[in-house]
Amino acid sequence: MIKMQIVADIGGIPGVDCKGFCKYCYFKEVKYMEPLGCISCSPGKIGCSRCGEELRESKNNFKLPFIVMSEIQSTLMLGNYRDKDLKVNISGGGDLSCYPHLNELTSTLNQFGLNSHIGYTSGKGFENGEIAKTLVNNGVDEVTYTVFSTDHNLRREWVKDQNPDESLKALKIFSESIEVHGASVIIPGVNDGDVLLKTCSDLESWGAKALILMRFANTINQGLILKNAPILKDVKTHSVEEFKDLVKEINSQFNLRVTGTPVFDPETNAPFAIAKDGNEIYLQFIQEVTGEATVISSKIAGPYIAKIFEKIGADDVNIVCTEKEIACLITKEDLEDIDLSEVKDAVIIPGRSFVHNLDAERIFSKDGKERVVGRGPDKLSVDGEMSGTLTEEQVIERELEEFRELVQAINFFGMKKR
Ligand code: SF4
Repeated sequence: MIKMQIVADIGGIPGVDCKGFCKYCYFKEVKYMEPLGCISCSPGKIGCSRCGEELRESKNNFKLPFIVMSEIQSTLMLGNYRDKDLKVNISGGGDLSCYPHLNELTSTLNQFGLNSHIGYTSGKGFENGEIAKTLVNNGVDEVTYTVFSTDHNLRREWVKDQNPDESLKALKIFSESIEVHGASVIIPGVNDGDVLLKTCSDLESWGAKALILMRFANTINQGLILKNAPILKDVKTHSVEEFKDLVKEINSQFNLRVTGTPVFDPETNAPFAIAKDGNEIYLQFIQEVTGEATVISSKIAGPYIAKIFEKIGADDVNIVCTEKEIACLITKEDLEDIDLSEVKDAVIIPGRSFVHNLDAERIFSKDGKERVVGRGPDKLSVDGEMSGTLTEEQVIERELEEFRELVQAINFFGMKKR
């Protein structure tokens, strides 16, 4: 049975608490900027910690273990976790292998009867690979390891790993003993091709369970919204289609649960499994669309969403895709580029997008027509980072729930006048 995970944030600043920046880190050269605005801001004020400091991950030093423990205890007390089989997902802004109290924290959690999942770590902070045995003894039963490549020189150069022998030894020990999800940001010409095949074959032979392939983003429209694009000059990233093909190819060659982000999961068909031809039967569980509205989405998700609304015969709903490829990273600049002649009187923006409603209302009334702005659900599907832990049924169930929420917003904000 899959255990429920509660998140323990140990803090940490990217690059600073990582023994230096990985060459491809999305937080490299992040500039100060005014908060972008989002759903968590108060209604009358643009800007809050979520769309300011938290987004830049700029102010959160590593926390002491007793603080992390007390936060976990509060989470346990406030949540309804009684009788639940739990584990703690340790995550942070820096690299977890650089957290000086990882041993102590996991050991304390173990004393409380809690197993741990070490969320993303590159392992570059492990000076002795044998630490992996200690952590496993401390109840760590799952690790998500940003391997990048098993080539020592590439890790030295790209991950700024001074001890690739040790970090890879730790990865091997983890893979042999517990559940390991490898993760690699794929940089064309660097760690794809034969290098990737070797990495996959090492992971497979060591016993890793899964590999998450992450398409490298290098431009604003691919999701770099912290004024730091491009991260790598002269690197051309994979197109979405090329990346999807790469995921399929790796999946067919290795005995690993391979998923890709932002696309694609060959086993569950996420994202947007319900859009897949042959899965129409599930669409009957989306309630009737009675409202009329425009749904704003991203370049990647938009066509899937349009297909679903077309299949359920929602003729009064149109989808407008922004240039931004990830809907959660849409900002007001993306909305400013939209042709308002395509936008109906009611408009639904992605729930988690970095746009304040005040900005959205201003932008969507620029042509003199006052439009109602509503927000959709936080997500409409799951990407490879999540779907790799789910079955196709679970993905479909989630998507249906989220689409029901979206239709609820359309029917409410886009209610037709009788
Ligand atoms: S370990 Fe992660 S957060 Fe730290 S520099 Fe590398 S990519 Fe950035």
